[in-house]
Amino acid sequence: MFDKIVIANRGEIALRILRACRELGVKTVAVHSTADRDLKHVRLADESVCIGPASSMESYLNIPAIISAAEVTDAEAIHPGYGFLSENADFAEKVHQSGFVFIGPRADTIRMMGDKISAKKAMQAAGIPCVPGNGNPLGDDGEANLKMAEEIGYPVIIKASGGGGGRGMRTVHTEAALLNSIAMTKAEAGAAFGNDTVYMEKFLEDPRHIEFQVLADSHGNAIHLGERDCSMQRRHQKVVEEAPAPGITAEQRNRMGELCAKACRDIGYLGAGTFEFLYEKGEFFFIEMNTRVQVEHPVTEMITGFDIVKEQLRIASGERLSITQEQVTFTGHAIECRLNAEDPRTFMPCPGVIDQFHMPGGPGIRCETHIYNGYKVPPYYDSMIGKLIAHGETRDNAIARMRTALHEMVIDGIKTNIPLQTDIMHDAAFCAGGQNIHYLEKKLGISS
Ligand code: ADP
Repeated sequence: MFDKIVIANRGEIALRILRACRELGVKTVAVHSTADRDLKHVRLADESVCIGPASSMESYLNIPAIISAAEVTDAEAIHPGYGFLSENADFAEKVHQSGFVFIGPRADTIRMMGDKISAKKAMQAAGIPCVPGNGNPLGDDGEANLKMAEEIGYPVIIKASGGGGGRGMRTVHTEAALLNSIAMTKAEAGAAFGNDTVYMEKFLEDPRHIEFQVLADSHGNAIHLGERDCSMQRRHQKVVEEAPAPGITAEQRNRMGELCAKACRDIGYLGAGTFEFLYEKGEFFFIEMNTRVQVEHPVTEMITGFDIVKEQLRIASGERLSITQEQVTFTGHAIECRLNAEDPRTFMPCPGVIDQFHMPGGPGIRCETHIYNGYKVPPYYDSMIGKLIAHGETRDNAIARMRTALHEMVIDGIKTNIPLQTDIMHDAAFCAGGQNIHYLEKKLGISS
C-alpha cells in the first residue's frame, strides 16, 4: 500500500478519499485553491499545498501545479476523485511520466472511453449491447446519411464523438431536418470540442438510466457490484440515485453485470468504473463508460457493504481484488439525495455562509458532506455540498428513512434543495419506482 497520496479534488469527495486513506494508514496531501483553505479535508489532511487561485483552470485543473505538489511532498500516487481532471487522459499520462501512480485506469483506456465512437466500437467488440446505429463517423454523402436514418428509424440522434457533459447532441424527428441537423451538429462540435466527427444512432424516447459498477485489478480480475438507477435527472444532472434499480431481476443483473466485467477483462480495464446504459422496454443500451469513482457510489456501498474507494487504492497499489464475484452480496435498498446549495425552485446557485448545520442520524443513514457550522460555500465551483444516503431493508423503508433524515437535517444561512428532495421522496410516482429520465423535468414543468 502507498505511504502517502495527493487528493486532487475538493469538497465531499476529497473528504471521502481522506477517510479511506485514514482507514488504510495512508498519509494524505490536500491540494487546494486559495478559496478553499477552510475545506474540512484540508484541515484534516496530514499536509496541504495551495496550488493556485480560486479559478479551477488555475488550480484544480492546473496539471503542473498538482504534479509539483506531489513532488514537493514526496507522495507516491494521485487520486483525482470525480470531475476536474479525473477523466483527462493527458493528466493520467503526465502523472505516470512524472513517476507517480494515477489512481484510475491507464491513460489509453481513458482516451478510448472519452471518445464516443471508439468507446462504442470497443463495447460492440466486447459484446455489450449498444444503441442501434453502427457508430461509424458520418461522411458528406447526404443520400447515404438519409438511408442510414431510414434504416435506424426516426427519431435519431446525431452525437459528436468528442462531446461530453450532455453537449454536442441533436435529436432529429423527420427526414426533412436530417441533413441540416448533421451539418449544425458538426459545426458546433468542431467549434466546441476541436473535433467535428459525428455519428448517428437511434433516439430512445422514454428510457431509464441504469448503470453498472465494476472493479478490475492489474492481475486480470474483474467483478461487478450490481446496478444503480439514476433516472431522476434535471438537465442531464442526476438528482436522486438508488440501488438496486426497481424491477431489475437477479437474472438481468447477473447477465449484464457479467458482460460488463468481461468487457473490463477484454480491454484490460484497471480500477473502478461505471458502464452507463439507457434501459427501455426490458433492454439495455450502452451510452458511455465513466472511468472514475462516481458521485453515487455510496448506494452501491450500502447494499454490498463494500468500500469502493479503499478498493481503488488497493488496486492502484498493485493488490488483487479483495473479493470474488461469488462473495458479492446485495442487502436491502439504498437511496442517495444530492444536496445542492441552490434555490429549490429556480435552481440558481446559492453560495454563502452556513450559520447552522445539523447532521441527521439514525439507522441506515449516511451523510457525506464537507460542510460545518460557519463554513462558507464559495461561488466558484459546483453547487453540490453533500449527499444524504438512506439504506433500508426494502425500498419503502429506505424512502421512509430518507424522509425522516431530510426532515431532521438543518442547513441554515443558504438555500438548499432539501425542499425539492423532500417533495421527490413524497412523490407517488417516485415511490412507485421505475420512472424514466424525463419524469423529474415533467414534474417540475420543464420541457427538455
Ligand atoms: P455525455 O458524455 O455528454 O454525458 P451521453 O452519451 O452520456 O453524453 O448522453 C447524455 C444523455 O443524453 C443521456 O443520459 C441521455 O439522456 C441522452 N442520450 C444520449 N444518447 C441517447 C440516445 N441514443 N437516445 C436517447 N437519449 C440519449
